[in-house]
Amino acid sequence: MNAPAKPKIALLSLGCPKNLVDSEVMLGLLAEAGYPIVEDVADADVAIVNTCAFIEAAEEEAIDALLDLAEMKSHGLLDAVVCSGCLPQRYGPDVAAQLPEIDTFVQLGAELQIVEAVRAAVTGSRAFFGAADAYALTAALPRWRSAPQWLSYVRIADGCDHPCSFCTIPSIRGRCRSRQPDDVLTEYERMVAEGLKEIVLIAQDTTAYGRDLQPAANLADLLRLLAPVSFDGWTRLMYAYPAAVDEDLLEAVAQFPAMTHYLDIPLQHASPSILRRMRRAGNAESYLRLLETARRIMPDVAIRTTFIVGFPGETESDFQQLLDFVIEARFDRISAFVFSPEEGTPAALLPEQVSVHEALRRLEELMRVQEPISHELNSALVGTRMRVLVERSAPDSSIWYARSYRDAPEVNCEVKLRLDDEAEPPQIGAFYEAEIMDAEIHDLAARLLPR
Ligand code: SF4
Repeated sequence: MNAPAKPKIALLSLGCPKNLVDSEVMLGLLAEAGYPIVEDVADADVAIVNTCAFIEAAEEEAIDALLDLAEMKSHGLLDAVVCSGCLPQRYGPDVAAQLPEIDTFVQLGAELQIVEAVRAAVTGSRAFFGAADAYALTAALPRWRSAPQWLSYVRIADGCDHPCSFCTIPSIRGRCRSRQPDDVLTEYERMVAEGLKEIVLIAQDTTAYGRDLQPAANLADLLRLLAPVSFDGWTRLMYAYPAAVDEDLLEAVAQFPAMTHYLDIPLQHASPSILRRMRRAGNAESYLRLLETARRIMPDVAIRTTFIVGFPGETESDFQQLLDFVIEARFDRISAFVFSPEEGTPAALLPEQVSVHEALRRLEELMRVQEPISHELNSALVGTRMRVLVERSAPDSSIWYARSYRDAPEVNCEVKLRLDDEAEPPQIGAFYEAEIMDAEIHDLAARLLPR
């Protein structure tokens, strides 16, 4: 079957929002070149999977998705399948040899050649688009906004210079490269003008922003540059490296009118010996001081963190230190993961690996310890009024689901809204006032207030 002159493209973006930004740039370039973009792969001629490969589970998800699409192609339902992103970046041409069903591969940095890559794929030539350096994102590149339409991400930097012993990201994404402050401002202003409701500032480590620029810049100054832009929605800052969060940055967050009082600070552990093995800066005492400072500067701040349990050498005593820390720190939200020994990382070679069974037990216990804390903090909100962003409804429209400033998109909890009998249904993607009526461990129940 001959491919149509301009095949229809569907893209499956896996992994984190940083990957999503690359996906949107690739779709933007394809749309600009006249390729129709479709949401459903069943309507497409060419499918692109923008892969994540920072842990084994993500790799498996990527390979499964690619093989499903290759199966569709073998039944004549697709003309070509393209694999981009972290998987070809991590394994290079080896991945092409292992996945002969896939037509074309596009490494990080070669995304700007996506039009050529699609052209090659539909003409049946197997190709591998490699790049020596990652591309520099700029506000001038076109972006095809993915759903939901009220939300978008500004990637202020990419790559990471930290040496965390468990992490593959620096070897996949390279060293930290920041965008020029004015370029970030241009993109931010454009998103505000487009009517977005939430703009999320992201990077592998947002607090590393600007150190690589000439002259050097920093995140607090970037926030002070964006703060005067008049914006009635939410701006949110993600992925702050704890040792780099200082008073100056916290003040810049607090004084930014559109900035949510929300901090996402992945701590990973609290035991000094595990943090040393992880090659992470800081310790339980410095982290507690940081939380105290953040809460003094923003009494309503919601703090989320992530931990890894079952790291090599984590003894029962290290784990107990983590539990004690969590009880003392009283985080609003916690995510935790079982350590995954990733090929090529120093941690994979460390002695005293913890069994998966034991790591899962610790994961469960950690989450159980956090539950009453989350419930108590949620309960303290009952009777208060909050601004919420409505994002979806139950199929029968009996409940509407929203988020408050306390929760980032996708990763956290929801505010379940009930409507008074006569009330108009809310608009998806709009802000409303709600009165908090009840608290669960993770979610809140609320009543929508008339506008
Ligand atoms: S700071 Fe984050 S992205 Fe960077 S190496 Fe550590 S875990 Fe990986």
